[in-house]
Amino acid sequence: MRLRPKAGEEQAPVTLALTILHNESATTAGRTPPDAPARARQPGRLLDSHGRTIRDLRLSITDRCNYRCVYCMDPDFRYRPKQALLSLEHYVTMARVGASVGIEKLRITGGEPTLYPQLTELIRELGAIGFADLAMTTNGSLLDRMPLEQWRHDGLDRLTLSLDSLKPERVAAITRTATSPQTVIAAIRLARNAGFDPIKVNAVVMRGVNDDEIADFADFAREHAIDMRLIEFMPLDSSHAWNRDSVVCADEMLKAIGDRYELVALNGADPSSTSVNFRFGDGAPGRIGIIAPVSRPFCGACSRLRITADGKVRPCLFSHEEWDLRALLRDGATDDQLAQFLIDSMWTKQAGHGIGTAQFTPPARTMSAIGG
Ligand code: SAM
Repeated sequence: MRLRPKAGEEQAPVTLALTILHNESATTAGRTPPDAPARARQPGRLLDSHGRTIRDLRLSITDRCNYRCVYCMDPDFRYRPKQALLSLEHYVTMARVGASVGIEKLRITGGEPTLYPQLTELIRELGAIGFADLAMTTNGSLLDRMPLEQWRHDGLDRLTLSLDSLKPERVAAITRTATSPQTVIAAIRLARNAGFDPIKVNAVVMRGVNDDEIADFADFAREHAIDMRLIEFMPLDSSHAWNRDSVVCADEMLKAIGDRYELVALNGADPSSTSVNFRFGDGAPGRIGIIAPVSRPFCGACSRLRITADGKVRPCLFSHEEWDLRALLRDGATDDQLAQFLIDSMWTKQAGHGIGTAQFTPPARTMSAIGG
């Protein structure tokens, strides 16, 4: 993958193989997890077999997206048919059941969640459950037509936006749309006016694509007083263009920023947090978060569980196993049965993603079909 020309080269086209992926793992469709041992059932606490407590639910509410980011989804990516997706009632049920077994934080994601027609109603229902933290990840492109103040009032605590370059032509090439950084700058303003604080902005850093902008992202964090989070490229792209050389590792990102600004590590972060966080030594506003699942895996402290828009429980982002909740929901399962399903599913969570191992193979689903 290379969007950025080398010195003396013309602007290179986006060189990604086009592959149509089917979003469902053929091997695990319709499967239920094996029974977890009795010790897995602890009141108000969701455990896995490696001693981790699961507190964070990433709930994907759509696999649709209005972008086709080069690191995520090919232009001809096929969505699941609408009938295959869960209903609003199902999402709310799973959030409520999740809370009953110990989920404290919920992040709404996708696909692009603002494409979900009942989003405002869903936020109201999720807000009423009373999570310690209710957040949403969005590309921000549609926020100008969303009732942000209503969402804030209804209990949405935080918004995370995505912006992978500060250069308009590059944003257009990465997202394969006509969008520009101005869209996200406008979204930051709208979110702040509606009372969202802090506002996080994610950028996936890729070799040859945007790795010359790392320190500029720090400028952006300072200028807009946001938490800028730089993410290592993960093998979750539908074109399977990921390779080790395309990853810009945390050390390199920190050096690039450190050469321009002094960074001071922020202590006291939640150990299960995906990011290592810094403030600027000169007291400027804004913060930097580095998310380094490839070079500094944080699996040992992972507290996450994912439910996809088509009702699969994925214990790990890189799971090859996923468990079919949809059939149970459609059969009218009780809350207790659904809770047991989550307990059994999470007991199968793998110890680590294994990206660094020779045996690693990426999952069949892209990030957009899992929920980032
Ligand atoms: N559409 C929303 C958005 O753009 O933020 C939410 C879904 S998106 C899949 C969630 C996050 O996953 C984004 O911040 C995106 O940059 C990140 N992401 C997607 N594919 C990735 C990959 N291959 N490696 C690292 N991060 C990725």
